This record gives sequence, structure tokens and C-alpha cells, in this order.
Amino acid sequence: MQDFRHIIDGQAVDSLDGSTFETVNPATQQPWASVARGSTDDAHRAVAAARHAFDEGPWPRMSPDERATLLHGLADLIEAKGDELALLDTTDMGKPITQSRTTDVPRSAQNFRFFADYQRYCEDESLPMASGHHVYTRYEPVGVAAAISPWNFPLMLATWKVAPALAFGNTVVLKPAEQTPASCTRLAELALEAGIPPGVLNVVNGFGPGAAGEALTTSPDVDLVTFTGETNTGRAIMAAAAPTLKRVSFEMGGKGANLVFADCDIDTAVEWSIKAIFTNAGQVCLAGSRLYVQRPIFDEFVARFVEAAEAMPLGDPLDPNTVIGPLASEEHWRKVNSYLDIAADEGAKALCGGAADGWWVKPTVLVNVEQSMRVCREEIFGPVVCVLPFDDEDEGVGLANDSPYGLNAMLFTENLRRAHRVAGRLAAGTVWVNCFFVRDLRAPFGGYKTSGIGREGGKYSREFFTEAKAVVMAI
Ligand code: NAD
Repeated sequence: MQDFRHIIDGQAVDSLDGSTFETVNPATQQPWASVARGSTDDAHRAVAAARHAFDEGPWPRMSPDERATLLHGLADLIEAKGDELALLDTTDMGKPITQSRTTDVPRSAQNFRFFADYQRYCEDESLPMASGHHVYTRYEPVGVAAAISPWNFPLMLATWKVAPALAFGNTVVLKPAEQTPASCTRLAELALEAGIPPGVLNVVNGFGPGAAGEALTTSPDVDLVTFTGETNTGRAIMAAAAPTLKRVSFEMGGKGANLVFADCDIDTAVEWSIKAIFTNAGQVCLAGSRLYVQRPIFDEFVARFVEAAEAMPLGDPLDPNTVIGPLASEEHWRKVNSYLDIAADEGAKALCGGAADGWWVKPTVLVNVEQSMRVCREEIFGPVVCVLPFDDEDEGVGLANDSPYGLNAMLFTENLRRAHRVAGRLAAGTVWVNCFFVRDLRAPFGGYKTSGIGREGGKYSREFFTEAKAVVMAI
């Protein structure tokens, strides 16, 4: 068993009451690590360290270049320790090691590199006024940021929050998901190794409601909350944060619509549609879990899609050839399986897939699905896709937009006008045309409707993580 403690004010510490919990390796279904279980008091201790580092320490007062040098140093360490970090994420949540190594770790380092440079090259405004005054803006750090992260991309999504928060001069308390604390705890150690001062990045481990997570959302010393997780958790956090009027940024659930038009390049559409739903065993907020295929190519597309789904290698996530690992926890595996039962009860038909031994679920393709069925409306967060036909563009767009979620959508067409027209009509924070998952960290990232509040990325992150101050000069 490995041990993971909190990292508070530069020290690895136990919980004040000494309590711990175990995290389970989903591939073996055995506990593999003992983790400090953070209470409200532990969260307050971490917040006090972050507050002190913000109010008294050098971090917010450093020049952009000094901060950039330290953050690039952290990115270097993430890359140097890439195999170790990848193994931690794979052991904690079962994602295939190849994915941890080639996606999660490099993108985590890139999050730091991008925001280190971005904050260095950001420009402020200077506005000459008719009255002879001029106004200029300053973008100043806000204070203490609570970053609350999910388990599906443990390191990558935590760094997507921590990197901009730090780059713009804030201090941070990170609360990783209880299922996946390992890589985030290690990240805070690496930050110290990189020379980032104690108290600037703290990690408090443990659970949400009534524990460390909730305490961060109510603490008067936390200025902003950046959260990624379920929509219902977002609702609870918003309510908890309201009395102290915290600034919030939420990235929440999704039920991504994927529109495949008859005029698409079918090879491209099948390849990306498979990746869109089955990457990370479907445990992706952006998953293309509602697949709408225009009727003239429906049968051909579905036949090729099922063939590709059945060919995906399930197995030990440590095997570099594995593409589908186990689901992240027993609770989650039960939830996904319950949706397979719901699908059957509702009259949907599985063309392939279903439960496998252990906590694996095979790539599952459902047809005979009605738009009103729960499997088509609720986020399953597993390797399960609903495939429905549509006749024309209006109907396809209507079906895609008929969802409480609006994180992202995809469309496949070779018709340029249609591509732009439909991209404009889809109610989603990101629309991918003839591709999926491609990101530019300058672009806004976030969701419409219940998928999010606010945007992060590039200047959107600067807006969230800084106070914009207007200085008016009489000349
Ligand atoms: P979750 O909401 O259960 O937990 C996320 C985090 O919130 C965890 O750290 C948890 O401990 C904490 N938490 C729970 N209750 C809390 C409370 N009352 N106060 C404070 N913190 C609390 O989500 P999850 O199961 O870890 O992640 C899966 C969900 O995340 C899915 O809905 C998925 O779509 C969503 N997600 C969204 C994005 C995005 O960018 N939009 C990315 C990844 C995942």
C-alpha cells in the first residue's frame, strides 16, 4: 500500500484527526493506497496556508517572467516523471497506460507551459479619453482559488485549473476526486521541487459533502471556485458558495450530440465517432453519446461502427495494447450497468457490448432508441452510445439541441455551407466539424445550459482568475 497525505504549506501532513480512506485499483478491485481523509478543519488549514501565501508571500508579487520560469520548471518535472504520473492515474482509475502516457501527462505539462507563456504575453488596454484623461487596465490576481476536480482525467483536468490559477498569481487549494488522489498529491510535491513557494499550491484530499470539498466552498477566505464534475454537484457548490459571494467557474456534465450527415466522408465519421464515445471507456464529459445518423447511410454506418466497436481491445490497463480499461470504481460500474438494464426495459436493442468480467463494460451500441428514453437523455458516462436516425438538417439539429446539456457537439459533412450553418445552430460550447477532441488552449472551453457556467482557456481564464482594475489618470 502506498500513502498519500495532504500537502499543506509545503509539508506532507496527515489529517488533524488522523483519519484515512483507501482507494481501489479498478483493474484488480483491490485497495492500493491509503489516503488522508480531509475534514473541514483540514480544508481550513489548507486555506489558511494559501491565504498567507497570497497575502504575505512572493507569488502574487512576482513578475510574469519569474512565475513563468517556475511554471515551466514544473512542466519539465511533469515530463521527467511522466511514467510515474501515468502509472498513478492508471492505477487509480483504470485508464489505459498508453492513454495516460500519450495524452494525460503531456497535456498536463502543456497546461502549465501554455499559461506560463500566455500570462507573460497578455496585453492590457490603454484608453485615451475625450476629456484628456486616460484609462489603463491592470489584471491582478484575485486571491485564493479552490480547485475541485473529477476522477476521469485526474491530473489533466486538475492542471487545467491549477495552471491558470497559479499563472495569474493566485494561490490554490486543490481538492482531487476521492477516487483519484494520487497524481494530484504528487503534483503538489513536484511544484515544491520546482521552487514554487510553500503554500502556493496546497492539496487537501478527501470527500465533498460535509467534508473537505464542501468546506472549501463555504470558507470566507476562498475567493473563487473552479469546479469540474457532475451538474448536481455544481448546483450544491453554487448554493454553498452563495453566502460568501464567490466567483465560480463550472465545467459539468454532458450528453454530446454527434450528427453524421449522408454527405460525410464515412471513413472519417466512423473513426472519430468511435473515439468520441469509447475513449477512456466513455468516461469523458465530451463523449459523443448521442449519435444521429442521416437515414440514407444509417444501415451502412451502423454496420461499420459496430464492427469497429467490437474490435476494440479490452484488457489490463497496464498492457500498452489495451484500449478499453475497467470503469473507475465499483459504484460507477454499477451505475453504468444499471443503464444497460434501463435500456432493455425501455425497449432499446444492444447490437453489441454489455457487461464483461470485473469492472469492464464492452463498447455497447444501442439502437431502437427514442429521444425521450432515459438512456438518450441522462449522462451514463460509460462506453454506451445511442444511435438514432434523422431525415433532414432541421430534424437533426432539433434532436441534437433537445437535451438539458450543451457541452459539445460534433458534425460530419463534406458540405462547407452545411458545416458552418449547423455549427452555428448547435447549442453547445464546442462544436467539432469532421474531428473530435482537438483543443487549442486559447479557445473558450465550457458548456451551454446545465453543462457549465463561464468559460476557461486563454483570455477567458484570465478574466476568471484576475480582477480587472481601471486606473484613470488626469494628465
Ligand atoms: P462529482 O461531481 O461527483 O465530483 C467532482 C468533485 O467534486 C470531486 O472532487 C468531489 O469530491 C467533489 N464534490 C462532490 N460533492 C461536493 C460538494 N458538495 N462540495 C464540494 N465538492 C464536492 O463528479 P465526478 O463523478 O468526479 O466526475 C464525473 C462528472 O464530471 C461527469 O458528470 C462529467 O461529465 C463531469 N466532467 C465534466 C467536464 C467538463 O469539462 N465539463 C470534464 C470532466 C468531467
